[in-house]
Order: sequence, then structure tokens, then C-alpha cells
Amino acid sequence: MESILDSKSFLHNRINSFKGTGFDKMRSKCSSKRMAEAGFYSMQADSDLVKCFACGVEIQNWSKSSDDPWLQHEKQSPECLYLKVKKSYSNELTVKEFIEIEKFRCLQMNDRYFQQKSKTIKDMLDLVQNLTSDQEIVTTIDENNQVHIEVKTK
Ligand SMILES: [Zn+2]
Repeated sequence: MESILDSKSFLHNRINSFKGTGFDKMRSKCSSKRMAEAGFYSMQADSDLVKCFACGVEIQNWSKSSDDPWLQHEKQSPECLYLKVKKSYSNELTVKEFIEIEKFRCLQMNDRYFQQKSKTIKDMLDLVQNLTSDQEIVTTIDENNQVHIEVKTK
């Protein structure tokens, strides 16, 4: 598990995540610093996929000369609490803001987890309901602890 000091809740960790990405090559509205200030960190060095540390929205295919990270953030995730707290461009959060956003972040993660689980359960139910008498469900767990569900003929 990552240490709290490595958390992307901190601006400097988000800025560091952009090392080696293309965001700094052009001085634009989408510099590493501006992206990080808008809540984003880089997901992969070889792409422009970024994620907001607070709401978890993922955005890709930036037009680096014209896109404004704050505007894109607002377009794609208007409910993000970080946007509401950080409408101003000042650098660090107060402790109270930090804690509020951590709470929001945990709730968002729980929500996503719950949606995934509900989908898995719904898929399972669909499978079971559509089984014919000569079929069975086989579940396997791979080396990454991913569960695979297959329908096999007996
Ligand atoms: Zn956000």
C-alpha cells in the first residue's frame, strides 16, 4: 500500500508523476504544473492519460495547445469536490480542505467498487438464468487474482 506521503493528494506528487511524459515539451495550458494543479496525475508515461486524484475521472487525448485542464475537468466531472474547493489557483490545500477531499475520494472509490460488484453479480445472475441443462459454470482464478467465469458444456 502506498504511504500517505506518496499520495496523489499532494500537488508535488502529482507534478512528479508527469516526469517523462509529453506534457512539459510544449509550454502550454497543459504543462505538468497546470495539469497537477487542476488535480490530475499521469497514469502512463507513454500516453496522455491522466486521472483526478479526488473524483477519479480519467481523461485522454489532450489538445496540448488549447485544452485548459480546469475546464476539461469541469466538463467531464462537474461534481468533483476538488473543483469546488480549488476554483482559485493557489497552491496547497488547507488541512480542512484536504480532509474533506480525502473523504470525498474514499466515497468515490467505494462507489466505483460497488458499481463493479453490482455488475459482476448481475452478469452472474444472467449467466445462471440462461444456463441449459447440459451447461455448467466454471470459475477460475488467475495469477493476478482475477476471477474468470465461463460457461462450459458438461
Ligand atoms: Zn476531479
